[in-house]
Amino acid sequence: MATSEPSSARLPVWVPLLWLAVFAAALLVPARAAHASHPNPDSIKHLHNMHYATTNPDGPGAYDEQFCIESHDTSKVGNTAGRSFVDQTLTQMGSGKVWDGLGGWRIDLWATSSNCVSYPASTRATIEIEVHYGWDWSSICGGAVGYYNCVVHDNPIWNADYGHYDSCWAYVYLVFSSGGRLDSVGRAFINHEFGHVFGLADDNGVCNPPSIMHSTIVGYSCGNWSNWYPSSADYQSVINLMG
Ligand SMILES: [Zn+2]
Ligand SMILES: [Zn+2]
Repeated sequence: MATSEPSSARLPVWVPLLWLAVFAAALLVPARAAHASHPNPDSIKHLHNMHYATTNPDGPGAYDEQFCIESHDTSKVGNTAGRSFVDQTLTQMGSGKVWDGLGGWRIDLWATSSNCVSYPASTRATIEIEVHYGWDWSSICGGAVGYYNCVVHDNPIWNADYGHYDSCWAYVYLVFSSGGRLDSVGRAFINHEFGHVFGLADDNGVCNPPSIMHSTIVGYSCGNWSNWYPSSADYQSVINLMG
């Protein structure tokens, strides 16, 4: 099971293991497999709360998206530094360059004040997104040692409003060699992986429309997007998934 190491503390016992296994495996498929364009039609691969908004500008509400940071080598990236960087990337880089606020604040991202494992399981279970910094996630993300970043969705919930399964939790795994860098390359990977959190897929050679999911800065060959932030088409794709 892919998520056993960092997430076992909050793995719900009722989750069918098969669901999780299939879900994780699907996200580990290398970029050239299958034809998944980034307006990802596979609706189970997105967070439940992005369908809904909570009106409370001063803190995380029931339908907001909280994220915590866990560095697995704090001598490389400290939890505070990682949190500041991810928070800045997702919420503070300016209009048109952040996921935060999308869809009339149906995406409303809030950093937790402490690292993930500092919370008791009952509290940790209320945090929708965990961002894990480390040297190597190949046991989860596949590929060569220290190479791939990835996202694993977890804890499915039936959404009767839209007739599909959503995930309550998502785990973002960043490797220090690329997604874990505290520079524009790291920002690009954070935005790319959060694209996965919000339901976008890798492009597998489909270059239109321009997308952070195939930006050259995250290692794809499409020449029509080389920025570290999502494209207007990315924002529209996620809005379309919100229903
Ligand atoms: Zn959904
Ligand atoms: Zn990807």
